[in-house]
Amino acid sequence: MAVRTGMRKIWLAAALALLPAWLSASPPARASEPVVATDARLAGDGERTRLVIDLSRSVPLGAFTLADPYRVVVDIPDVIFALPASAGQEGRGLVSAYRFGLFAPGKARIVMDLTDPVTVDKAFVLEPMDDQPARLVIDLVRTDRSTFLKAVAAPLRATEQPEMPKADVAAAGDVRPVIVLDPGHGGVDSGAVNAKFGVTEKQLVLTIARKLQHQLEETGRYRVLMTRTKDTYISLGQRVRFARENEAKLFISLHADSLGSHDGDVRGATIYTISDRASDAEAQRLADSENKADMIAGLDLSEEPADVAGILFDLAQRETRNFSALFARSLAGSVSGVARMHKSPLKSAGFKVLKAPDVPSVLFELGYLSSAKDLELMTSSQWQDSVTDAMAVAIEAYFAAQRPRDRATVALPASVDRASAKPVAVTAP
Ligand SMILES: [Zn+2]
Repeated sequence: MAVRTGMRKIWLAAALALLPAWLSASPPARASEPVVATDARLAGDGERTRLVIDLSRSVPLGAFTLADPYRVVVDIPDVIFALPASAGQEGRGLVSAYRFGLFAPGKARIVMDLTDPVTVDKAFVLEPMDDQPARLVIDLVRTDRSTFLKAVAAPLRATEQPEMPKADVAAAGDVRPVIVLDPGHGGVDSGAVNAKFGVTEKQLVLTIARKLQHQLEETGRYRVLMTRTKDTYISLGQRVRFARENEAKLFISLHADSLGSHDGDVRGATIYTISDRASDAEAQRLADSENKADMIAGLDLSEEPADVAGILFDLAQRETRNFSALFARSLAGSVSGVARMHKSPLKSAGFKVLKAPDVPSVLFELGYLSSAKDLELMTSSQWQDSVTDAMAVAIEAYFAAQRPRDRATVALPASVDRASAKPVAVTAP
């Protein structure tokens, strides 16, 4: 009997293997294959809202809530999001919008922005059935603020944040200055989006950062590290720590801005440095928007380490700011030769990612995704090459001015622990 059963199995397997692919419309996905999210939809109203995401097979999930602003976060294993470009942009019922993407290696995340406090009534994944794919289902029911706050899950601690890529340890005796390039956003946080042309800030700035890294490395004069080399989320604090731990001599954060449709003709590049007070309302708006990255990725901001600003790093910080401003001017001068600049291209505001007290840092907004002309240029390989060329020239000029003494090394007071940035004294406000 056993032999016959075995034979039947083999025959069945052979017969199935001979079936044309079109006969089995949705073959069961194998466990080794990546899970693919193929469609997503919202249903319901302001009392009860359901999010459904179609998956190629079922996955375990975890869901939790975050307050201020109200969010629901769903964590699942690594998933390829092959969703329509419009997915998540428009809300319905209790969900005003949602985002999705890689949060950490092997971990994907969906973050829903809510119009009101909710209870996660149900969160489950349905096994695939007949011709139906597996479906991730989240049911939200409206509640009051105090019930919501009671249910807020144990916050994501700093130690649970995704790990930064380990910086390669410098070869002994490698005294070349370290430059950290920081492609903004990533993973669940797309940054600015031009939905019409399917361009995201996170992709664009990663492409340009890679070009610049390659170009700088070819000179042999620098060690060039990137805060991210993939489409993954990195918190603002981690980006700053990465630069400090690698004792970077220069930190360049790359971004592209976007304005509402009525501002479609605003264009040009802008270079930002840090300041306690924004240079103008536009700089303040941009800093507010860029500083939201961690909130967008579903990080509990109350768990972020205390802000470095307000801590007394006076001497080091002042000198660092001078170097940042020096480089910003050099960069603006060099880039203005090849790219259209914003009408006031040098600005400052309280950007979290520029807060390393001992690493000269600038944030370069390449242009506006909301401007058709900027978009066309920024996505052209030729424009990207000439801008990274101009950036390399500015970087070279900046370091050349400091040779042979490397004056960009800003000494912190001896009692300050570099890595953890503990304050030595705190000034009263
Ligand atoms: Zn940005």
